[in-house]
Amino acid sequence: MLVRWPDFAARVVDWCYPRICPGCGGICDQPSRHVCWECRSRVELYETSLCSVCGRYAEGGVGHAFVCDVCRSAPPSFDRARSAGRFSGVLRKQIHLFKYGHSLWLAPDLADILEGCLRAHFAADDVDVVVPVPLHPARQRERSFNQATVLARELARRIERHCAVNVLARVRHTETQTALDAPRRRANMLGAFEAVRPEMARHRRVLLVDDVMTTGATLNECARVLKKAGAYTVWATTLARG
Ligand SMILES: [Zn+2]
Ligand SMILES: [Zn+2]
Repeated sequence: MLVRWPDFAARVVDWCYPRICPGCGGICDQPSRHVCWECRSRVELYETSLCSVCGRYAEGGVGHAFVCDVCRSAPPSFDRARSAGRFSGVLRKQIHLFKYGHSLWLAPDLADILEGCLRAHFAADDVDVVVPVPLHPARQRERSFNQATVLARELARRIERHCAVNVLARVRHTETQTALDAPRRRANMLGAFEAVRPEMARHRRVLLVDDVMTTGATLNECARVLKKAGAYTVWATTLARG
């Protein structure tokens, strides 16, 4: 059997430096990825029973289109938000490693999940520009990279769109929001972002990208600023929802 040179080279690299799956600790069986098929297939994806607007999952299961109570009482600034899966298990572990463990080698595995979410819940053709949720400069210095930017760049490359990293800036650091309820989180986020390059969003259909969505207050505030800058539509997508 004839083996092509790039395949042979990849096999040699794999033999010298085996790619270890962060989920199970076994050797990854997927070419140029790190998460093995077993662990990848255990990610709990959100597919149905989702609020048409914010993508909130109805635990009991709903078989028809619905808008949740939160979106009805306070409609968000984004037109639609969807997260790929539940913030638990192997997905949570990957995101933690990526974000806090500086494991940038996980970017292709995570971009696969995000791309799947985009293709399942949105239409890539209706996106003009991809925008990551920015970090506060102090936080970015501390972490040395913005996880949302890495994901947005990879996703934009795959759908052949421009990734506009400098449209938004985080101008105010917000204290941890875990103790606040949804309306207070929204109020707490007011003024946290500014459109520094509004012309990049004007008359465009924007896809906002972040790693994790909790109540959606951050995405909502980014969307509000982008709409104020003249964006036609703002869709938001994240890897996980916790
Ligand atoms: Zn595994
Ligand atoms: Zn909703």
